[in-house]
Amino acid sequence: KSLDKGLKKTKEGFFSKLTRSVAGKSKVDDEVLDDLEEILVTSDVGVDTTLKIIDRIEERVSKDKYFGTEELNKILREEISGLLEENNSGSETEFVIPQQDAPYVIMVVGVNGVGKTTTIGKLAYQFKKAGKKVVLGAADTFRAAAIDQLKIWSERVDVPIVTQKMGSDPASVAFDTLQSAQAQDADVVIIDTAGRLHNKVNLMNELGKIKKVMKKVIPDAPHEVMLVLDASTGQNAIEQAKQFTRVTEVTGMALTKLDGTAKGGVVIGISDLFKIPVRYIGVGERMEDLQVFNKYEFVDSLFG
Ligand code: GDP
Repeated sequence: KSLDKGLKKTKEGFFSKLTRSVAGKSKVDDEVLDDLEEILVTSDVGVDTTLKIIDRIEERVSKDKYFGTEELNKILREEISGLLEENNSGSETEFVIPQQDAPYVIMVVGVNGVGKTTTIGKLAYQFKKAGKKVVLGAADTFRAAAIDQLKIWSERVDVPIVTQKMGSDPASVAFDTLQSAQAQDADVVIIDTAGRLHNKVNLMNELGKIKKVMKKVIPDAPHEVMLVLDASTGQNAIEQAKQFTRVTEVTGMALTKLDGTAKGGVVIGISDLFKIPVRYIGVGERMEDLQVFNKYEFVDSLFG
């Protein structure tokens, strides 16, 4: 399965270490728990979430007195699944767009370099493949490269894009995009935005203005604010999630670059800390390398 491949490094770091730690042991002792703690932290689960998991396991171990390692695996799976948010997308393999008259508007936010443009391209590809009419909007007008990159994706996937020149008002691009999408009777609109976190007040104002202007065209837009985070940056991704959730309401997340990293545990920490569903995970650079996140599949992959 491609998820197994995508999570290969995390799995090696996580499951193999765990197996080694408990090999030959007949019960969960302090040493196993210490090892487990270290494994979780080095997989970038995050200290708070790790301690939460260890506490729960200690509690269950002391209550039931005795645990073999197979049972430890089972408990660990249960505890980790419990911390992961359900994707709630209505399907395990695709993101189900609700039936509605107006186009479904996804506003994509995130810092430059995390894979925002690529994720938008991959999303457009998936929706198009599912028979949806997609329109892209290049509202990251701060960098010429951002507009160009998105154009390239729109050609690659063969979906229309609305752009204005660099430096123009992002809210104006969003407005045009929604109008154009409505006129074309589109199903899905995906809007790229600039992610300059070093200027938080500006970012907050900019995203706020984009949202306000969107509502002039479609009153309940955006229907989703999707935060894109690079999983390979581990704790940095958590920091970015903190910052973005302070500047705007985030309703879903996409975690990219899980294929090249052993830090896949960050998915668990982020889910636990923010209680925002992870909708998608990026497992490669190709158009097809975006998967709807399924927490059970994810946990299965971690445990071999
Ligand atoms: P942006 O600045 O956030 O728009 O980032 P880009 O979309 O331009 O992506 C930055 C780099 O990350 C590019 O080289 C992408 O091919 C790469 N990338 C994006 N998503 C993934 C992923 O899921 N896996 C891998 N391995 N690379 C990715």
